[in-house]
Amino acid sequence: MGFCRSVDLPTEKIALEIKILWMEHTLSLIRNLAKTPLFTSIDRLEDELVARSDVVHANKQSPERFEIIRENLKRSSGGPPGKLLPVMLPTLYGIRKSLRSIMDNPTIPKKEGSAELFKQIESYALKLGASSIGYTMVPACWVFQEKAIVFENAIMLSMEMDKARIDTAPSIPCQKTVMETYRDLGKITNRIAAWLRKQGYGAQAGHPLMGQALYPPLAQMAGLGWMGLNGIIITPEHGPRVRLAAVYTSVENLPFSDQNEHAWVVDYCKQCKICIRKCPPGALYGEPMDHGNGQMTYIENRLCFPYFSDYYGCSVCVKVCPFNHLPYEKIKSTFEAKIPSATNHQY
Ligand code: SF4
Ligand code: SF4
Repeated sequence: MGFCRSVDLPTEKIALEIKILWMEHTLSLIRNLAKTPLFTSIDRLEDELVARSDVVHANKQSPERFEIIRENLKRSSGGPPGKLLPVMLPTLYGIRKSLRSIMDNPTIPKKEGSAELFKQIESYALKLGASSIGYTMVPACWVFQEKAIVFENAIMLSMEMDKARIDTAPSIPCQKTVMETYRDLGKITNRIAAWLRKQGYGAQAGHPLMGQALYPPLAQMAGLGWMGLNGIIITPEHGPRVRLAAVYTSVENLPFSDQNEHAWVVDYCKQCKICIRKCPPGALYGEPMDHGNGQMTYIENRLCFPYFSDYYGCSVCVKVCPFNHLPYEKIKSTFEAKIPSATNHQY
């Protein structure tokens, strides 16, 4: 055992004291994150965007954004906040960049894109690490209350989360892969927006975390997949094991999807319901609530969020979904053999 001469304490004890102090400092930093200049500048930039008259605002039917980071910080329980800080900070910087860079848009942005431009966007997005890409117009009803977007034309993106770590849900490694995907997909949206600006187009990166619009219905409209009973989009590439983001752009003639071949997933979900049975706090509705205006609610937030917050972002409903384990086409062909008419749905 070594000793520190000046205070006459064993060096191991001093090392432990330093470790405890560092952990307390990190915890306090995390708990006060919502009051830091980084967080307040994100709020200010969002407010400035809403104050503009030339943007797409929410309407009366628009959903409210669930402030997941703030609510998590308020609860301050569960999870490994110190360990997540190195992933959380660059994610927050990415969110701020997505809002700040709107001011870099050309004064009079180009509105017409060519087939070559769309090919370039797609190969750039996939090269950067996106899993799939689609296009949709954004109706005001999917813009969050008190938020706004600059353009109503959206490039929708999905990005895979690491399967091995999601399969450990709920766990620290699982929570880490969720946060890392937010960070990395956020970087991709910022880079695509910057690239579009260089070509003379206007763009707004819609960050996957704290975005300005509700992504799952937009991703469905863009043909990236179909909503499962777990309230998550089921994609052919990785099932529900993805995060979503958008890049809003001045390009008005994007190759928008007019049909979606994944609607059969609705029927598959009806006879599956594994996620509903396995959700630890029983937060998933067996029958989603239909609000009659195109909006559906799949999850009872009051039950999901406390568990989500206490158990590392949960993600059990992603882990247990058959589309996380088996190839989409295999599930589809087996289901088709069982119920031949089920996969004819197209919307
Ligand atoms: S995240 Fe967890 S608690 Fe929330 S709906 Fe999914 S399984 Fe249930
Ligand atoms: S677990 Fe089953 S019911 Fe739930 S989303 Fe996946 S396929 Fe649908």
